[in-house]
Amino acid sequence: MQVKKEELTIDQIIHQALDSLSQASTVDQIKILQAHYLGRKGLITQFLRSISTMPQDMRPAAGKKVNEAKQVFEEKLKERTAYLEYLASKNDAGIDVTLPGRFSPYGTLHPITQITNEICRIFRSIGFQIVEGPEIETDYYNFEALNIPKDHPARDMQDTFYVSDSILLRTHTSPMQIRTMKKISPPLRIIAPGKVYRCDSDITHTPMFHQVEGLMVDKYISFADLKGILTLFVHEMFDPSTSLRFRPSFFPFTEPSAEVDIRCVMCKGAGCRVCSQTGWLEVLGAGMVHPNVFRNVNYNTDTYSGFAFGMGVERITMLKYGIDDIRKFFENDLRFLGQF
Ligand SMILES: [Zn+2]
Repeated sequence: MQVKKEELTIDQIIHQALDSLSQASTVDQIKILQAHYLGRKGLITQFLRSISTMPQDMRPAAGKKVNEAKQVFEEKLKERTAYLEYLASKNDAGIDVTLPGRFSPYGTLHPITQITNEICRIFRSIGFQIVEGPEIETDYYNFEALNIPKDHPARDMQDTFYVSDSILLRTHTSPMQIRTMKKISPPLRIIAPGKVYRCDSDITHTPMFHQVEGLMVDKYISFADLKGILTLFVHEMFDPSTSLRFRPSFFPFTEPSAEVDIRCVMCKGAGCRVCSQTGWLEVLGAGMVHPNVFRNVNYNTDTYSGFAFGMGVERITMLKYGIDDIRKFFENDLRFLGQF
């Protein structure tokens, strides 16, 4: 049997041709390849001619194979030429298609939204339900039903935006206590996040800010339950080693009432500018629901007791991230907001 070692098979030729084609980077290079394989003395052309020297019975199969290979090469050649011409036209237009695409920045959740979600997550994990209500409230839900009658001195504590004599922008999320208790019989565990409004603006106050209200009502609820739940919350939100202290305070809708401080998260109690050298930071107001509030929603005060608490989301966020000016939350500076 005689084998001509130097001669390539049609499979090898077409393989080599397609390989060179894929590496061609200009239309001129493609023209050279075209001549090399399909020209008068091209490799594929010569192979076609050599078929006439083959034994008669082998010619049809060989002819079919070479023509198929030739067709594939011609198609790929056309494709590659069109592609390179396209690239060349783009370059002429001053567009470099090899440059990486323009980066579209992702949006991020506002830090206030993130902390609100985190507060909700913590309380949901211990069975609290989330409720929401209107920002435009009646005097009744915002004040009267919460044991703050007209000309009660506590109304001076809150600089209210009035829409009319009896309609206002809610000054706290506490109206949701009343709205919920009027709908649901105890036992209940709710938190109510949302926007509140007060006529006040400086480095620690903005006319609109966010609160989360909490309320738990059941048989035998005591101050110890309030303390336990809020301790768990603070440990989840800040650090499990954060200590708390409850200071006696006054709110018309709770009795007894307390303000809750945590060990300063900046100086760990040593005293710094943020905590005014006291080592403590106020984070929450809380207390046992006042019997007058229960009477306003027809809850039996002999059977049921409960606690309520409220916190400012901006305050918690500032402490969590060490932010010193509340106005940064509302300036919409993406360099600031993108850090969270
Ligand atoms: Zn401090």
